[in-house]
Order: sequence, then structure tokens, then C-alpha cells
Amino acid sequence: MSIDYYETLSVSRSADGSEIKKAYRKLAMKFHPDRNPDDKSAEEKFKSCTEAYEVLSDERKREIYDTYGHDGLKNSGYSGPGNAEDIFSSFGDIFGDLFGFGGGGRSRARRDGPIPGNDLRYDVEISFMEAVHGVSKEVQLTRKDTCWTCEGTGNRPGTQKQTCPTCNGRGQVVRSQGFFQMSSTCPQCHGEGAIVTDPCNDCHGTGLLEKTKKVALKIPAGVDTGARMRLRGEGEGGRRGGASGDLYVVVHVEEHEFFKREGDTIYCRFPISMVKAALGASVEVPTIHGKKSLDVPAGSQSGELFTLRNEGVVNLRGRGKGDMVVELQVMTPTKLCEEQKKALREFDTLCIKHGQDQEEAGFFKKLFNEVLGKN
Ligand SMILES: [Zn+2]
Ligand SMILES: [Zn+2]
Repeated sequence: MSIDYYETLSVSRSADGSEIKKAYRKLAMKFHPDRNPDDKSAEEKFKSCTEAYEVLSDERKREIYDTYGHDGLKNSGYSGPGNAEDIFSSFGDIFGDLFGFGGGGRSRARRDGPIPGNDLRYDVEISFMEAVHGVSKEVQLTRKDTCWTCEGTGNRPGTQKQTCPTCNGRGQVVRSQGFFQMSSTCPQCHGEGAIVTDPCNDCHGTGLLEKTKKVALKIPAGVDTGARMRLRGEGEGGRRGGASGDLYVVVHVEEHEFFKREGDTIYCRFPISMVKAALGASVEVPTIHGKKSLDVPAGSQSGELFTLRNEGVVNLRGRGKGDMVVELQVMTPTKLCEEQKKALREFDTLCIKHGQDQEEAGFFKKLFNEVLGKN
């Protein structure tokens, strides 16, 4: 990885910004993965020239590199493009910039200038746990991509567009209607002023080709339904050197059988036996991160809430972890054997003896009196 950046781009150490740009553009065009499908060595070359360009086109990074070399860059926190996917996403920007079509320039397309690609939307469904912990997914997308045979111009390589004969290159046609002269967009060239007379065989002159591509999605931990991610340059391909559009990934999260989620807080109902709830117990509660022990105090009731700190979801904006709230659900035993029934009857007798059934009776007495209007 520590090949000299200047060598990679075949430029001299005194090359200026525009020379570097030109050199990179040439190499990037040649080695772009879309142009060299399944060619690992081209991909590697594309990666290394992109890395070299990213450093040498940035004055600050170039200065660090010139003075301290690769190690200097590493120490300054620049570790180079992490993987191919990141580079491909940033390629759109560099690409646009190289053609003098920087960000925000989308509406300023010249008549015969670059045409940026459309943005696309992709809806992805992920499981509850994937949303909580983050997930890497590879999806196959079929979209219109730049035709690399003609570099998105629509012309058969080696040929040029010809001046539109209808408008003589003006892009507008003028019609007389009575006293008025009406100017309108040329119907033949659609305002471009030029037409493809010798169309590219691959794209039939459109400059775009339908292509299926694998796109890696890195979904961060903590996303929830409705989260949107923007992948620069992964949308529809541009034409005539225009930058690719962006891909907007919209996340949908499936429900979980046991866990519910509200923001970064996880809610869970935990069933506990009547006896444990009465006597108190230390129980193991499943959390999204594993297991956690919870001390249930003696005499706990159904519906009581216990908070487990930091057992919730990682906050997407780096504000730590949420909590988990456990709702106790005291279970009445079923399918009792004779011995158990006997023990419970004895238990009930003891309750009556301690006057503990009186609370129940008192409750009903009060309620009946209220309903029947007696005192
Ligand atoms: Zn025309
Ligand atoms: Zn073409």
C-alpha cells in the first residue's frame, strides 16, 4: 500500500492541481470498476490511484505526505480509503469535480454540458436485532448506469454529435404566428443544439445502460424505521461526464416477538412465578446484549417496572446507550398435581389465619357499598 503517490498518478513532484486532476481522470476512466467488471487488478489500480488523488489533491494532506510520507498521514488521522465501496461512493464527487461539475451544480447543466444522474430510493427491511446491532448487507440493484463505451455521450466512439439541422445548433426554433414570433425548444434535439447521428452500439445513443450492481450497505447500530442513508454516487449514472446521482436507502425494521423499542429504550415483559414474586429472587433477564441478572424483591407485583441501565440501544448520534425497562408478569400456576393443590390449600388456610384474606374482602365490601349505595 505504500507505493509513491506521485508514481501512482505518473506525475512529477512539482505537478500542480490541474495536472494531478488530469492524470487521475485518465486513470480513473481506464480502471473504473464499472468499465472493468470482475477485474480485481483494475479495481486495485482504481483504488490506489483514488487514494493517491485524494491525498495529492488536498493541499494539507499533500503537505503532510511530502514532509512525512505515508506514516505522517497515518499519524494525522488519515488512514486512506477503507474499502472499495467507500471509494465508489466518493467517486461520484471526484468525478463531478473533475468535469467541472461540483456539488450544487445540478440545475446549472449547460445545454450540451454534463447531465447528472437521477437520485434513487431503495427500501431495505432488516430485523429488530440487525437494527439494534447494525448490519452489513449486500443488495443487488438494477439501475441505469453510464455507458462506458461512449462515456455517456451516446456517440459511437470516435464520432461526435452533429449540429442539429432543425435549429442550426441554437436549441430553439422560432415560429411566426400572426404578429407574434414564438420561440420554443427545438423538437429534434430537445434544446441541446446537437444530435447523435452515429449512435453508440451499446446504449443506442442514450448514454445510459441498464446494469445490475451489488451495493454494500453498512447499516449502523441504533437505526430505526424511517432512517435514511445517503450513498453518494450510487444512483443513476450521469451522461456526458455528469456525476452519478445518489442512492437513498430507507430502513424498515421488523417487530420483535419479545422486545419492544421506543427510541433507545427497550421494553420487555418478563414472566415470573407467583412463588418467586412472593419470596423474592435473583433472575436472569434476556436483554438485546445478552443476559443480565435482576434482583426481584419479595412481594413484587405484576406490572411492576424495573430499569436496567445501559441495556438499551446504542444511540445513533453517539449519546451512549439507552436503558431497558422490564415489566414483571406474575404467572398463576396451571396444571397442578394433587400434592401442589394440597400445599396451596394449606397455604390459603394460613392466609385466612393471618387475616390476609381480609384485604380482599375489604376491597369488595367497599366496592359493593359504592355500587349499591349503601354505607
Ligand atoms: Zn435542434
Ligand atoms: Zn453508449
